[in-house]
Amino acid sequence: VLNQRCDSPMVSKTLETARLPNIPVLSVSVKDAIKQKLDSISQLKWESDQENAFVVGDIGEVYRQFLRWKALLPRIEPFFAVKSNPDPMVVKLLQSLGLGFDCASKAEIQIALETGADPSRIIYANPCKQASYIRYAAQQNVAKMTFDNADELYKIKKFYPNAELVLRILTDDSKSLCQLGIKFGAPLDTVDHLLQTAKDLDLNVIGVSFHVGSGCYDQYAFSEAVNLARGVFDKAEAMGFNFSLLDVGGGFPSADVTDGVTFEKIAAVLGPTVDALFPPNIRVIAEPGRYFVASAFTVCTNIIARRSKINNEQPSFMYYVNDGMYGSFNCIIFDHQVVQPHVLAKDGHFAYGEELEEKHYECSVWGPTCDSIDCLNKKTTLPLLSEGDWLYWNNMGAYTVCSSSQFNGFKSPEILYTNTYC
Ligand code: PLP
Repeated sequence: VLNQRCDSPMVSKTLETARLPNIPVLSVSVKDAIKQKLDSISQLKWESDQENAFVVGDIGEVYRQFLRWKALLPRIEPFFAVKSNPDPMVVKLLQSLGLGFDCASKAEIQIALETGADPSRIIYANPCKQASYIRYAAQQNVAKMTFDNADELYKIKKFYPNAELVLRILTDDSKSLCQLGIKFGAPLDTVDHLLQTAKDLDLNVIGVSFHVGSGCYDQYAFSEAVNLARGVFDKAEAMGFNFSLLDVGGGFPSADVTDGVTFEKIAAVLGPTVDALFPPNIRVIAEPGRYFVASAFTVCTNIIARRSKINNEQPSFMYYVNDGMYGSFNCIIFDHQVVQPHVLAKDGHFAYGEELEEKHYECSVWGPTCDSIDCLNKKTTLPLLSEGDWLYWNNMGAYTVCSSSQFNGFKSPEILYTNTYC
């Protein structure tokens, strides 16, 4: 798949159909897309809120991640975790590429269906669901859904007795940035009881899922979890179930992880473990979110204010930018991210990708709200910048804009799209 040329009719058709008719997509580098935007801003000459923060989304990067997945984990079907970034262009592209969707709510199921996903390509992967949402899933024939407790089974029996249930088991998430096991996942010593309850209720359990935690940095967490899932398959078989689905969840790193535990390392452990333990008739899916989107979005912020200080005769600066912790940068709190600013424009000089060879000063970078928690980077160094200059922030595609608020009246930034695949 990686050998497909971007000018092949298949690829260009896919990328073309993935475009939303009312949203333009440039075909330039991220650098040029940002440059075009900044140039257009300076022509506006103070007529509008021209210095508002903005985001550039690169659908070509999402496509590259798709190719990488197909090349390295060909057996495992990705169901994109919509929660990580329900951006319409991303969802449309992944839908056109035939991906499935992991949805956490009625609204996410609606997004997937409206984009054209077949209900059979959706898994409602939230073990604790609102009753009316289960009814909605039933109306829409979205049959696959996860559970991890007996109460959920009684609820599902009431609202969707023919659902195809996937038992989410608890696995070791200690090597992940965001651990989910404290909230979800059936401990292994409850599996017998849950399967027996499902049997007594005449429910259709079709397989096992797990989630090693988001931002996993141990490739063996995946293989250990697959081993545990095998044990549950065996148990279920002994009880008369005929399992057909393994869901290896999310947790896959984004493209910016180039040392440590990369996607390549995880794939090299996960793929062979799945093949060794599960015969080809078992369908294997995954729920990657961050993997597809993190590296595809760049946030550009304007320096709206500066405060200068002198500490022991050393100048230092506090820069205030117009997107913050309550906006796209909520990932600092909710997703445990550390973000790094880069100079985008200084005194009108476009500096994307440049290491400016001038004196750097100690500084901190703050969001625009009146809350002191709204700090993006407490201590870094940057050249001397002024109000009106710009910073950019890479790898801002996962768990960012989608979980932002409008606290203090600051709106989510505009998103521009480009496709760098060709
Ligand atoms: N699946 C479920 C059930 C999740 O809760 C999450 C994230 O919270 C994901 C998939 C996506 O995880 P990631 O973005 O780490 O791949």
